[in-house]
Order: sequence, then C-alpha cells, then structure tokens
Amino acid sequence: MKRILLILLCAVPMFASVHVTAAYPYIGELVKTIGGNKTQVSVLGTSSSDPHFVVPRPSFIGVLRQSDLLILNGGGLEIGWIPPLLSQANNPKIIQGSSGYFDLSKYVKTIDKPASLSRAQGDVHADGNPHYALDPYNIPILAKVIMLKLSEIDPAEKAFYRANYDAFAARWKEKLTQWEQQMAPCRNSEAVQYHELFSYFLNRYGIRTADTIEPLPGISPSSRHTMELISLMRDRRIGLIVQDTYHEPKTAQFIADKTGAKVVSLPYDVGTGAKDLESLFDIMSSQICRH
Ligand SMILES: [Zn+2]
Repeated sequence: MKRILLILLCAVPMFASVHVTAAYPYIGELVKTIGGNKTQVSVLGTSSSDPHFVVPRPSFIGVLRQSDLLILNGGGLEIGWIPPLLSQANNPKIIQGSSGYFDLSKYVKTIDKPASLSRAQGDVHADGNPHYALDPYNIPILAKVIMLKLSEIDPAEKAFYRANYDAFAARWKEKLTQWEQQMAPCRNSEAVQYHELFSYFLNRYGIRTADTIEPLPGISPSSRHTMELISLMRDRRIGLIVQDTYHEPKTAQFIADKTGAKVVSLPYDVGTGAKDLESLFDIMSSQICRH
C-alpha cells in the first residue's frame, strides 16, 4: 500500500503541471524560470518575425485548447492575431475576462498613448507603445506578477514559484547595476530607430529617440520622410540608428551612408542572436553604447 502511495505521489507532478501558452518568447522564458517543471510552456510568436503580426499556424488552436493560462504582452500588440485564434480554440479557461487570460501590460506603465483614437497615429500603436518589455526594469515586475498568477492557479506549489522568483530577482538586480554602468556614458544623446521598438530601453538610459525611419508606427518609409531624417540627423549630429531584425535594413543603411551614422541591428526578443533575456539586454547595452 505504502509503495502504491509513493508511486502515486511521484506521479502527481506530471499530471498537475500547469499548461501555459505565452504569446512571445520572453514571456515563455519568464514562465519557465518561475514555473520550472511545474509548468508546460508553449510559445506562439518567434523573435525573427514582426511581433504585431505573428503568422498563425494550425497547431496554435490545439495548443490554446489545452491551455490553463494564456499570457499576453497586451497593450494592443496581439490585437492583429490572437483574437481569431482564441475564438477558434473556444477554451473557457483562457477567454478574455477569465482568470486564465493574463495581460501583462496591466502591470506596467506604458508610454506614447495617443490623445485621440485616430489612424493618424499610425497603424499599430493605437493604445500607446506596447514594447515595454525592453525596459529591463520592467522584467522583475513581470516575473513577479507571473509568480503570483501561477500561485493563484496552482496554490500547492506557491513556495516553489516564490523561491524561483526570489532567485531570479536577485540575479536580475545585479545585471541592472551592470547595464546601468555600461549605458552611463551614452546618457543625454539622441538616436533614430526604425520602429519605436527600443523606446523603453533608450528612455531608461537617457537616449532620446529623435525620430523613426517609419513616418508613423506600422507605416513604411517614404522618400520625403527619409530626406527629412537625413537633414535632421546632420543638423543635430545624431550618430546612431537602431534597426531591428525583421524590418528591411536598406533605408537605415542609405541614411547611414548619407550621414555617417552607425547602424546597430538588434534582436527585440529572445531567440534571434539572444539565447535568453539576460543576453538580450547584454547585447542591447553593448551594441547601443560602445565605448
Ligand atoms: Zn510596435
């Protein structure tokens, strides 16, 4: 009898794990860090494609059907691709409004919220800038709310989630000090980005985004805007263009050739060139502020 009980107890964690679907790789990594082997994590988006328009695969529906928890970046980033998948999956545990629908943007302060709801603000940032996860100071906040959410869904493992969070937060604190030191020489400078992807990172370390290569979020570059940018960068002696890995790089290179600015091409999520969240911010700080 004792032996049977022991076997049953050992088998429990396998069946008790929480099925979590993460909209983006960085969320998946946070869940794995906090949830460890008590969670089964599926990630929908990839770091190599446009996060505003993840191309749905048929397998996504099955993944969503089996999920206990769906964790979104929110702030409108998934508006173009998650809602139809959710209605097809028809899983009451994770529909909007249920406790398994978890929108991380509710826990951080977002920037650049348009005063009026109009397409004059561009195509993709109707609720403000949703790329808040690229502020490294937001990461422990996200890790903490994920820890609390996992504890709510799976209270038996509360202490396990808390211990993992504490270890993560302590390590992250050390990294924040390191990035602070690395970025310090670049305070009070200006940069141009392709899209407003890196605004939170640049703002955090005192680098102002003078303009973007896109005339508006989600709108492709025009020759008129590109010529205006070249003149602005020459006037203000802006020497840095921050390019992401999924937009075309030709316009940035053209502007760099005309102005002498350097182009840095950066990953925006875990996966493309960045093996984990720490290396993502290591790459960003070392590439943006080289000295
Ligand atoms: Zn965006």
